[in-house]
Amino acid sequence: MALLLLAVSVHAETRRTVIAADTLLDGKGHALRNTRIVIEGSKIVALDPKAAPVDYDLRNLTVLPGWIDSHVHITWSFGSDGKNAGMNATTQEAAYSSASNAWSTLMAGFTTIQSPGSPTDLPLRDAIANGALPGPRILTSVEPLMGREEQTGSPDEIRAFVRKQKSAGADLIKIFASGGMTRGTMTLSQEQLNAACDEARKQGLRTIVHAYRDAVRAAILAGCTEIEHGLGASDDDLKLMAEKGTYFDPQAGVVVENYLQNKDKFLAPPYYTEEGFAAMKDLLPAFHDLMKRAYKTPGLKIVFGSDAVAGAHGHNAEDFVSRVRYSGVDPMAAMVSANSLAAEALRMPDQIGSIAPGLQADIIALDGDPLKDITAVRRVVFVMKAGVVYKNSH
Ligand SMILES: [Zn+2]
Repeated sequence: MALLLLAVSVHAETRRTVIAADTLLDGKGHALRNTRIVIEGSKIVALDPKAAPVDYDLRNLTVLPGWIDSHVHITWSFGSDGKNAGMNATTQEAAYSSASNAWSTLMAGFTTIQSPGSPTDLPLRDAIANGALPGPRILTSVEPLMGREEQTGSPDEIRAFVRKQKSAGADLIKIFASGGMTRGTMTLSQEQLNAACDEARKQGLRTIVHAYRDAVRAAILAGCTEIEHGLGASDDDLKLMAEKGTYFDPQAGVVVENYLQNKDKFLAPPYYTEEGFAAMKDLLPAFHDLMKRAYKTPGLKIVFGSDAVAGAHGHNAEDFVSRVRYSGVDPMAAMVSANSLAAEALRMPDQIGSIAPGLQADIIALDGDPLKDITAVRRVVFVMKAGVVYKNSH
């Protein structure tokens, strides 16, 4: 009896919150004027211009769904010596750094991220999901499938690896199908890629594939869900992606700019070399050109992914600025790529990515209008995730 009463009283106390907005981007490419968002508990229940009383007056700001970053290495941090500590560190310091990365990312307006991936993502994902830590909703691949040519294993061994990630709690499968940005060939054969993406599909998991050059086409043909990075993709590859409905997650530069800005912290031959950094700098125009060509490809579904590593957490939105500034991307398209389109790519369009009744109340506000001045994405002054306000500083 006591339990029943408790359940009833919790239900009766479901909080109702009203947000007033004069400019609202709905996440699907529409701008709404002078409306109010009604939230009950963690969800949006209505858009009603007459709803009252107003709890948060966000007029004079731009209100939009919390952003989704499809590619973040959330546990990747610098160590106490100031040097790159990677994403797999398991010290207590590393755990605090990961929690801090999550906080910075949430404060920057990102309410959901996909982390591809490290086993260290799991306790962070779960602590945030349980409400023990503030941070964005996290989807992780746990351990990625590292292409190492024949050594990667037979198709059957690859299928077993995919199932192992699923039982470890993976939300998706990350696959490395080629070497670095500047050179290297495919590190998985077509047959191996087919096995990985097919097994994931059978297990109900999405696949995202790190691919450059000829690995791009191979991943599309293998029926994988999404291609990451994609430098060296031809216009024909981009067309094929659009035809097959493969999502594409290219970057416009924040990942490279961050490496260059923090060069001293990353420099550690043979992985991070002076030559490598010099080559990276020369690559920026290629990143911008790929983004430009991708957006000109009819029907290509481009999602927003910053590829944030140590140093870049909380600066994810810089990639919006580069997209608009250097690749001529329409600002509304840039917003949608991190809202409804990204939610669709995550197979969560009925939960996140739009401001509409029934969806999670993930709502942010910018001081400024990103459609007129894209640098407004740097000024996130309000953050609500699942109905809870984490920032309100306007
Ligand atoms: Zn990455």
